[in-house]
Amino acid sequence: MRIGILGGGQLAMMMVQQSEDTNFDFLILDPTESPPASKYATCIKAEYDDIGSLNYIADECDVVTIDFENVPADTLRFLEKRIVVAPSSSAVEICQDRLKEKELFINCGIPVTKYTSVYDNDSLKASIDYMGKNSILKTRFLGYDGKNQFDMEKVDGIDYLKECKSNQLILEKKVDFEKEISIIGVRMNTGKILFYPLVENIHKNGILNYSIAPYDDKKLQKLAEEYHKKISDKLNYVGVLVIEFFLDKNGILIANEMAPRVHNSGHWTNEGANINQFQAHIKAVANCELESISIKNHSAMVNILSKKPDLKNIKDFDYAYYDYNKSERHNRKLGHITLNNKNRDKLMQDLNTVYNFIKT
Ligand code: ADP
Ligand code: MG
Repeated sequence: MRIGILGGGQLAMMMVQQSEDTNFDFLILDPTESPPASKYATCIKAEYDDIGSLNYIADECDVVTIDFENVPADTLRFLEKRIVVAPSSSAVEICQDRLKEKELFINCGIPVTKYTSVYDNDSLKASIDYMGKNSILKTRFLGYDGKNQFDMEKVDGIDYLKECKSNQLILEKKVDFEKEISIIGVRMNTGKILFYPLVENIHKNGILNYSIAPYDDKKLQKLAEEYHKKISDKLNYVGVLVIEFFLDKNGILIANEMAPRVHNSGHWTNEGANINQFQAHIKAVANCELESISIKNHSAMVNILSKKPDLKNIKDFDYAYYDYNKSERHNRKLGHITLNNKNRDKLMQDLNTVYNFIKT
């Protein structure tokens, strides 16, 4: 079976790598020169609205999926007329827009932080008067890794609308959170959903630095799964869908955002679970059966940002290293390391040492 992937980043790269021993074969579309996945699968270099390339993909593939959520919805709609696209254009389109995403959370009865829609300097001023400066201004579209976000307490006197190059924004009340956690679920087109255990995520400056799994809390696990099911059922979703939450000081689970794809907070599953998120996603979009998901031990994943590490420093650790074959750039995700241990305390010790060696 041939699977088309729109976007050839590290997520596509790992979808291909993790399918090595299967009958799946891949065709990738990406407008950039030598994206990470191009080392492992045939890659067409073209824009996402290049009709010739889209028709070629529809001719050659059995199903199409994505490696990033900002593939134009029109591209997905065009392909949907000819071929199965999973997740669907309508699901992806909601995840591209923070406002639509929040409205969906609310419609599903899932708590979100207070927010207002901002579209000019007057509405920003009115929003700050209402919400206070303890808030974050974000673009509705195209934000990632904390980009296009402004902490209203930290920066003053700049023209945010100009800075964001957008007048489609939201102002969000800052959540004084205890933890950030995510739920990774994979939904088959039969409606069956399998879940990984909750993951704890530690961000610095809006970028994921490391994750620890499982975040062991049965009540929260059940609640996060219920929330995920409400959303993924409503969207008739197929594939991996990840929801990021804040856990506030009162123990309330507040939805932050969601990703219609495999996710950085699920990279630990490569070594830590019987079936990893990449295999699970590919099987779901290819309409193959998935039995059950189980984990092997405690896992941690550390992102390698900005600069490639000197691995000699951690040679005594038992780890897996993934290199995304990208050039160094400030705050760019260049790779990751996973650690596993049966003993959580030992894992935390190792994580602390490894993180301190490779952090920049
Ligand atoms: P991105 O698409 O860049 O991941 P997020 O909304 O997830 O955007 O923001 C990135 C990080 O910034 C979050 O993981 C969190 O650490 C912090 N953050 C974002 N929004 C809020 C908020 N309303 N309150 C507190 N922290 C926030
Ligand atoms: Mg996020």
